[in-house]
Amino acid sequence: MEIKEIKALKILNANSNFTVEVMLTTDKGKFRGSSPAGESNSKYEVNQFSKGIDDEIKNFNDYLKKLVGKKINSIEDIFSVEKEIPKEFIGGPSLSLSYALMYGLSAEINKEPYELFGSKNKVIPVCKMIGGGMHASGLGMDIQEILVTTITDSNFESINTTLKVYKKVKELLENRTDSFIGGVDPEGGFISGLDNYESIKIVRDAIESIIKESSMDIRLGLDFAASTFYKNGKYVYKRPIYGKKEVDRGEQIDLTKKLADEFDIFYVEDPVDETLAEDYGEVMKLLSSSIIVGDDLTATTPERLEKVHEYINSTLIKPNQVGLMYKVKEYSELADKFKIDKVVSHRSEETSIPIIADLATGLNAKYLKVGINRGERIEKINRLIELN
Ligand code: PEP
Ligand code: MG
Repeated sequence: MEIKEIKALKILNANSNFTVEVMLTTDKGKFRGSSPAGESNSKYEVNQFSKGIDDEIKNFNDYLKKLVGKKINSIEDIFSVEKEIPKEFIGGPSLSLSYALMYGLSAEINKEPYELFGSKNKVIPVCKMIGGGMHASGLGMDIQEILVTTITDSNFESINTTLKVYKKVKELLENRTDSFIGGVDPEGGFISGLDNYESIKIVRDAIESIIKESSMDIRLGLDFAASTFYKNGKYVYKRPIYGKKEVDRGEQIDLTKKLADEFDIFYVEDPVDETLAEDYGEVMKLLSSSIIVGDDLTATTPERLEKVHEYINSTLIKPNQVGLMYKVKEYSELADKFKIDKVVSHRSEETSIPIIADLATGLNAKYLKVGINRGERIEKINRLIELN
């Protein structure tokens, strides 16, 4: 494939903030790549626009001119382009460029994007039911996400069952609180005025109701995003949970265990502050039948995973945390080496391209963490169905 034209533009993401899109023209047509953003970011992830979006897009356009005429024939050629990108563009610009090149290359060699990374692998969605923390603008619970996943080999059946639970959660929220009027957060999780404990109970009840009519094992998950409420050595909750509003490190670990035992929580993401790797390890020791997932802890950064791998058994992969696909691949291989399960994930401020469904499939991830409402999430869910 030869790059005929290439330019960067400022576009809107699905949460009405600006991001960058790279538009590539080859003999096969026009191909777009765009990068998402997070609302609750890890301190270990790269800045999407280190110099501010306007300056960065202007400078990036000057840089992209150098790529006109370049030939890209393999994913390794895309990695070579990435390795030469000046540091200032690593983040939103670099990832958008890589995605545009991946789509262009797939069309050129008549392959699906996932095939650039590996073979077809079944991926099970992990979907958000109720949103809190920064995703709910401080209006909901402190825990950022209550999630649902299923234990099955069929991703279509998994999506179907998860959707039933999601609709049941809505019904239960409607019956339960007058203040709930159906609003969702950027990832499609419902925002309600209920506290952490009551919200988890609602999702548990929804699961119990759907499980009766389904043969599938439906499991509860939580993304605490605990760094977002860890202040001066304490986890500070807006409303009491198990009778306490402020808990120390040890108490947060105990609280996680208590919730996991009471609600049979299978998926546990960032239960403690991102800097406290050993505390993830403590949670993992206590919850032997749950998966302990690093997100803010690991930030899709190989150097971080090398350092903290012994404290988790699963990890998110969010490509924009590191901004370069060759690093994402390296991270994925490292996770395999350490026998850590992979969960490719959306960001709260997504764009509409479905590429993460391809990445989850090609990188042999076990799960795709994605919303089950809002158009930009449904793009990814529907792509998973296509790849089923
Ligand atoms: C998350 O924390 O897992 C998440 C998807 O949210 P954000 O994109 O805001 O980091
Ligand atoms: Mg997270």
